[in-house]
Amino acid sequence: SLTGKTAVVTGSNSGIGLGITWELARAGADVVLNSFTDRDEDHALAEQIADATGVSARYVKADMSKGADCRALIGAAGRCDILINNAGIQHVAPIEEFPAEKWDAIIAINLNSAFHTTAAALPMMRAAGWGRIINIASAHGLTASPFKAAYVAAKHGIVGLTKTIALECAREPITANAICPGYVLTPLVEAQIPDTMEKYDMARDEVIDQVMLERQPSKEFVTVEQLGGTAVFLCSDAAAQITGTTISVDGGWTAL
Ligand code: NAD
Repeated sequence: SLTGKTAVVTGSNSGIGLGITWELARAGADVVLNSFTDRDEDHALAEQIADATGVSARYVKADMSKGADCRALIGAAGRCDILINNAGIQHVAPIEEFPAEKWDAIIAINLNSAFHTTAAALPMMRAAGWGRIINIASAHGLTASPFKAAYVAAKHGIVGLTKTIALECAREPITANAICPGYVLTPLVEAQIPDTMEKYDMARDEVIDQVMLERQPSKEFVTVEQLGGTAVFLCSDAAAQITGTTISVDGGWTAL
């Protein structure tokens, strides 16, 4: 059980981050949710989780594109036994048309944020004598696809960062690993469907079957509950010697 642990999940008012937060709360961890907005519905998510699971849950606004905000999120949490670096965005375009500001935003949110949160959280983990850092990379942390230059670069980068954190903490009860999901039908993936339809001149169902699940031999989307379960496993004693590695949850994508 994760009772007594506090988990901070970046980018957790939607999709995978929210799903992982639910599973960590169900396993007994207190949770800190985050995104860059500060709406009633963001805070309501924390209330729902607290009501349903009995853990303490809070929502903290912080913009993961800004290093100071990343560090302030960990400071506001006050304690961070489990750090889930999940916030991420996507943009799909050929390199020569790829907007430079999109490149910068993707590198900042999908990669740099994990450096800043980790730097702020490690002293807390060391003080507590235990820690788990779980970076949500992607199958695109291990393989590439056309038109996703910034995303693929950031996700390969976070896999490298994960390995370095693991080595720096190797003699301590602190592990760092990356989960590499295949396609999960979240708002991030929904948003890519129109662009991809245009790029390949395909209908929605064709994009799902022939572009997205084409790479996923199981022909099924991964679910956020499955990713939450993987995160809970990485927090367990059974996973204490799993560090500096990637766990693919991708329906066979990277076996192809
Ligand atoms: P999503 O759009 O549902 O969630 C992204 C989350 O990040 C949201 O909570 C959003 O508010 C937050 N976010 C975005 N910009 C932010 C910022 N500047 N500051 C703070 N929070 C910010 O997408 P998702 O699919 O759940 O993606 C979550 C993570 O999983 C991402 O890192 C993504 O790359 C990764 N991933 C997704 C898939 C997939 O198929 N959906 C596959 C592999 C990896």
